[in-house]
Amino acid sequence: MAGKRDYYEVLGISRKASEEEIKKAYRRLARKHHPDVNPGDKEAEARFKELSEAYAVLADREKRAEYDQFGHAGARGTGFDFSDFDLSGFRTGGFDFGGFAYEDLFGDLLGRSRRRGPVRGDDLGYTLQIAFEDAYRGVDVPLAYAHSSGCDRCGGSGSEPGSSTASCPRCGGTGQEKVSQGPIQFARACPQCEGTGTVISNPCSHCAGRGIVDKQDRITVKIPAGVDTGSKVRVAGKGNAGINGGAPGDLFITVQVGPHRFFRRDGSDIYLDLPLSFREAAQGDRIKIPLPDGKTTLLTVPAGTQGGQKLRLKEKGFPKLKGKGRGNLYAVVKIRVPKAPKGRAAELIEELDGVIDLDPREGLW
Ligand SMILES: [Zn+2]
Ligand SMILES: [Zn+2]
Repeated sequence: MAGKRDYYEVLGISRKASEEEIKKAYRRLARKHHPDVNPGDKEAEARFKELSEAYAVLADREKRAEYDQFGHAGARGTGFDFSDFDLSGFRTGGFDFGGFAYEDLFGDLLGRSRRRGPVRGDDLGYTLQIAFEDAYRGVDVPLAYAHSSGCDRCGGSGSEPGSSTASCPRCGGTGQEKVSQGPIQFARACPQCEGTGTVISNPCSHCAGRGIVDKQDRITVKIPAGVDTGSKVRVAGKGNAGINGGAPGDLFITVQVGPHRFFRRDGSDIYLDLPLSFREAAQGDRIKIPLPDGKTTLLTVPAGTQGGQKLRLKEKGFPKLKGKGRGNLYAVVKIRVPKAPKGRAAELIEELDGVIDLDPREGLW
């Protein structure tokens, strides 16, 4: 057997490896190179054969001892000839695999190929831009988007109406076929009918036998008041169609909220720059304040309000998505000063400055 690789090297383990380590190495590599995972890959197939052979010897205490002593000649001397190793017909007779169940080894692989029950459809994602005002009051948005849907013509069966499915010729309708790989024999889902046992004899002309079609859909999405950029709105059942009677997926709408001309947002709070005249700030007043929904509210400016002060309008911010209530709206005061006053205005300001007992830089030095 020229060029035959060392069994320990094949499994990537040391010559001192424990039985558990051998088993682990084989599981890991066999999963990777299993023909079910690499359909049509000749190299993976050869690798898998090599692995199975190495494992068959090293997992057996007696054969391993012989192999350790005599190398490949020793392993062959046990009466196992792997030269005619063939995935489609390996002889399993009398081969004791030490209670090492194939299910145990490939349970997840088999689970995947055998599962032919309902499969839930994929979720879909959509990014939606909305205006600041709409995020404040909530909005219904009409949406046109594409998703897969059960074919109406065949009702999702994939068969042309009036025609029936036929028993699968490959597996005879059982949905399974027996495969021998390495020293183990197992049943797997028939690849032709994918385990269903039936095949479509006359594919539906609308969906070409797929049972699902791509569909343009129009829905109206309710965007709740209070959403912010990054908020996700779930529209149940509006994703892709399920398979084999599985439920459809959901549609997830990620919201992006646009900026506003003069409102700024921080969480559920809103900030607004509020210009006040010197008189308004000094004497106090009631000022009409706009809200993002187009309404207005009255703000009481107390006498002696200073520039930069934040005046709170309680619960006029965004509704809180989590928890109750709303945020606040803060009016940030900007005092407007007349530009280069002349004549009577200049005189009055001069006079005022004389009578007001105010140190503008109080405490600064
Ligand atoms: Zn169809
Ligand atoms: Zn079949």
